[in-house]
Amino acid sequence: MDDLLRLDDQLNGDQRLIRDTVKSFVADRVLPNVGDWFEQGTFPARELAPELGALGLLGMHLQGYGCAGTDAVSYGVACRELEAGDSGLRSFVSVQGSLAMFPIWRYGSDEQKDEWLPRMSAGEAIGCFGLTEPDHGSDPGSMRTYAKRDGSDWILNGSKMWITNGSVADVAVVWAQTDEGIRGFVVPTSTPGFSAPEIHKKLSLRASVTSSLYFDDVRLPASAALPGVTGLKGPLSCLSEARYGILWGVVGAARACLEASVEYAKTRVQFDKPIGAFQLTQEKLAWMYVGAAQAGLTALHLGRLKDAGQLEPRQISFGKLANVRAALDIARQARSILGGNGITLEYPVIRHMNNLESVLTYEGTQEIHTLVLGEALTGLPAYR
Ligand SMILES: Cc1cc2nc3c(=O)[nH]c(=O)nc-3n(C[C@H](O)[C@H](O)[C@H](O)COP(=O)(O)OP(=O)(O)OC[C@H]3O[C@@H](n4cnc5c(N)ncnc54)[C@H](O)[C@@H]3O)c2cc1C
Repeated sequence: MDDLLRLDDQLNGDQRLIRDTVKSFVADRVLPNVGDWFEQGTFPARELAPELGALGLLGMHLQGYGCAGTDAVSYGVACRELEAGDSGLRSFVSVQGSLAMFPIWRYGSDEQKDEWLPRMSAGEAIGCFGLTEPDHGSDPGSMRTYAKRDGSDWILNGSKMWITNGSVADVAVVWAQTDEGIRGFVVPTSTPGFSAPEIHKKLSLRASVTSSLYFDDVRLPASAALPGVTGLKGPLSCLSEARYGILWGVVGAARACLEASVEYAKTRVQFDKPIGAFQLTQEKLAWMYVGAAQAGLTALHLGRLKDAGQLEPRQISFGKLANVRAALDIARQARSILGGNGITLEYPVIRHMNNLESVLTYEGTQEIHTLVLGEALTGLPAYR
């Protein structure tokens, strides 16, 4: 589809190469299969992880330990192309790189980094990030999972919910209350007392593994704690990284829906004309295009701020809120343009639409990001 605003002309040669590489990986390995994965509620994480690792997509914006060390715009473009395939695929990469590898890379000991990061960047080890609990989602500061000191060890008890990659992970970065405040723990999933049953019956992000985590007297050595951070700012800084990937990723989902509906509108004939020749359809398509291009502009601008070291969390909230809302609106309009065909997995639209419902909720709901912007505007926090 025509890049009307010529946004991708703004990308440099490396960024375009990454775009084209990820796009052809998605075209070859994901698009032919993702409808089936979604229908069956499976995601071949073990199979795809080494392939994603070989492409340099795992922890790609981190330096060292086998990570690609790209700029932020490159990471964003990769997320966009992955999510044009499926939000579940982008979620896998976001969780691995931004939520599991990033805290180890940023706050971990040399021993933790050496043990996990090379294998994780190669896709040989899979990570997950445990923050949300059954009773504490938007307000993670009230979490009840607790790590108590026992001599030099820690004993971890509690549970987490809605954890992407949980059942397939080799390592979980778990956030828990301690007597010193909230701390992060690097927990090998083979540790006795750790279990991660998969959550079934999802109708969104079906091509993604989502799990509960249970910790039943999980004994961890002193070396399991992340030494570099205490307090909620630890997990929140990881979420900022992942939300940045989301605000790019959903541009890809929106584009996929727009492309599918333009194609459909040009070929589906009713009342002796392609439905794309009716003004009502063109109005929908025009606004979908405006929304997708504005989301792309926002992503590029925020990417450049991030590369300049100037990106603030409230700007990320702006991007996550605006772009996910735009993508969801586009997916819903696309669904209507496809008529009855809009509800089948023969087309990508309803898959993206259902996925985006999760994307609207995870990594800070639309309401929480609205409150962040409300506070930015008024100086008055209204969270509680
Ligand atoms: C598919 C999927 C994958 C996920 N993956 C992960 C993961 O890997 N790791 C992880 O830790 N978590 C993960 N999550 C959890 C996700 O981050 C939470 O679902 C999210 O933070 C919301 O929490 P909650 O579901 O408990 O909803 P709640 O916090 O109970 O919110 C319910 C509703 O109340 C609203 N609300 C809450 N507080 C306020 C307020 N102060 N003012 C106005 N409205 C408010 C919310 O916006 C929402 O609309 C995932 C979730 C999903 C669905």
